[in-house]
Amino acid sequence: MKKENDNKYAQITTEQCKQILQKLVQINTCQPEGNEGKLADVILEMLPENIVYKKINHSKTRASLIIKVNGETEEGGIAFVGHMDTVACGDYSQWSYPPHDAIVKGDILYGRGSADMKGGDAAMILALKWMLETKKRPKKSIYFCFTADEESKGSGIRGILEDGMVNKVDEIIICEPSDEKIGTCEKGAFWLKITVQGKQSHASRPDLGINAVEYVEKLVAELKEQVETGEVHPILGTTTASVTKLCGGIMTNIIPPTAEAELDIRTVPGISHEHILKCTEEIADRFRKEIPGIQITIEVMNDRPALETSKDSPLVKQIMKTAQMVGISTEDKGHYFYTDASQIIPEISVPFVIAGPGDDALAHCINEHISLESVRRYAKLYQKYLEKYYL
Ligand SMILES: [Zn+2]
Repeated sequence: MKKENDNKYAQITTEQCKQILQKLVQINTCQPEGNEGKLADVILEMLPENIVYKKINHSKTRASLIIKVNGETEEGGIAFVGHMDTVACGDYSQWSYPPHDAIVKGDILYGRGSADMKGGDAAMILALKWMLETKKRPKKSIYFCFTADEESKGSGIRGILEDGMVNKVDEIIICEPSDEKIGTCEKGAFWLKITVQGKQSHASRPDLGINAVEYVEKLVAELKEQVETGEVHPILGTTTASVTKLCGGIMTNIIPPTAEAELDIRTVPGISHEHILKCTEEIADRFRKEIPGIQITIEVMNDRPALETSKDSPLVKQIMKTAQMVGISTEDKGHYFYTDASQIIPEISVPFVIAGPGDDALAHCINEHISLESVRRYAKLYQKYLEKYYL
């Protein structure tokens, strides 16, 4: 029995992975332009003509794509989600190979987006092609979503949510790189901009001014201490708060009247962003009371909640079982950065996992690369999962 299965799965080869992934990497979908519409067309060209799909245009050049394999019922189903955009290449001269040439050396394919996450897109395409080739109608519908703009505002996944086609699924697989493991949680992101308006004076008379730079620094230091001493998550550790931008001041002999700090707070599941905002407001209120004349504004720039799927959920149990069969580790794994899950999961409240080829530590790096064998392994994971639970 086992042998028969092995033969069936052997049909996905690293050569197929290479051919598909090269095509995807060779299309430049770097932010901020994205141009994902072109990549969506390339994906459609790889598939038979009679498929059910919807191309959602966000602009003339940007689009997301949903491909649907109709199930016996319209209720429920599963969605695979992968983004098509990549971050910019940075300094081209630092790359060993041009980032859009998709050069292959042995088992490794080099290029921008190879790991994050065109490798995952390639694995999705392979599982989809296999699904279509079986000509079987799955018990429930299967959706393959290729999104635009994940690396920025997430307008692709928002467009898909607004469209509503996949909003009734029972479970979601985010095909982002998960380093040969299965991710069950991701950190949230809460970005704050804090602006302090003080009072300018001669620096020889600081008593006559309100030093905005010093107060913004005190405020963020207090907040950082409060935020970072919260609970410890078994996989993701603690919430972190980093001051990533700080500006203020006119010249050395002037007490600065304004200052601005930006904080990137990365939260663990269970930490409420509302609570963090409340803490920030409380500190600001105290400053307002103690320093007459000071003005403080707090602006939320990005708000993505931390997410976690219970290890007891059927999705996690079933995908771990399938992972074992294809040689993917079932060791605990969480993601420190947010994915499209941060937009779709809070809206439709279904279990999700992050499971895709490549090493997430290579995302956004110079000389980003991926193992073609890894792409094949995850294509097999998706294929085997669909065969076991949807056919
Ligand atoms: Zn990504």
